[in-house]
Amino acid sequence: MSEGTVYLVGSGPGDPELLTVKAKRLIEEADLILHDKLPGPDILGEIPAEKREDVGKRAHGKGTSQEYINDRLVELAHEGKRVVRLKGGDSMVFGRGGEEMIHLAENGVDFEVVPAVTSAIAGPEVAGIPVTHRDHASSVTFVTGHEDPTKAESAVDWEALAATGGTIVVLMGVTRLPEYTEALMNAGMDPETPVALVERATWDAQQVATGTLATIVDARDEVGIEPPALTVIGGVAGSRERVADFLNNEQ
Ligand code: SAH
Repeated sequence: MSEGTVYLVGSGPGDPELLTVKAKRLIEEADLILHDKLPGPDILGEIPAEKREDVGKRAHGKGTSQEYINDRLVELAHEGKRVVRLKGGDSMVFGRGGEEMIHLAENGVDFEVVPAVTSAIAGPEVAGIPVTHRDHASSVTFVTGHEDPTKAESAVDWEALAATGGTIVVLMGVTRLPEYTEALMNAGMDPETPVALVERATWDAQQVATGTLATIVDARDEVGIEPPALTVIGGVAGSRERVADFLNNEQ
């Protein structure tokens, strides 16, 4: 048993009011908060600089390795610290929270997991897109659009996804949008399938672009969508235009 405790905390999509009550309390009580940029400026801006340690990708020049983060968490816990490991969205959804949890357990560190609002559901939602809908989608699949270019084969089976008929939500999928929209169409998915991109959902800089499988790459470039953004593919993405005039979630 360690003297300190590590809290694996999700911060939600970025709006401070979407932090859980528990996340807010733990952030206030923590000795130190290890984070990257994804929690967003509004949440990070409220944490005193002396309590924050940026272990994000571009933080220390080339990027902080996962090994460094793992070791740092263990080290701080053994010093008796209350450490919050703060991640954007939910820490277990493409957030490496699972790896950190196992590392902590293997090194005898007490930890607690604090679930949160994932951007994968909340991001589409604030743009007027429900990830499921009785008429359009009875399933939803969350996939990563980020592929190691050295990998010969995609880890995501786009062909199988094209056949499911459910909603597809792609995280980390801005750069490779041309590749996977093409793959889905090649697998027989209708080029007219609605697609939406939601960038920085709930941040002041939130932006949305809509189109179809065939047109979304142009829409991305026209609007200037950049990471972090979600891609929502499927009939549900078409609901945005029906509700947008009455939707007050635009920042
Ligand atoms: N654990 C996070 C996801 C981490 S992977 C979660 O549950 O939300 C990083 C990806 O998450 C980004 O590339 C982007 O696709 C998505 N993302 C996270 N926050 C976002 C936000 N506020 N708006 C849009 N996309 C976001």
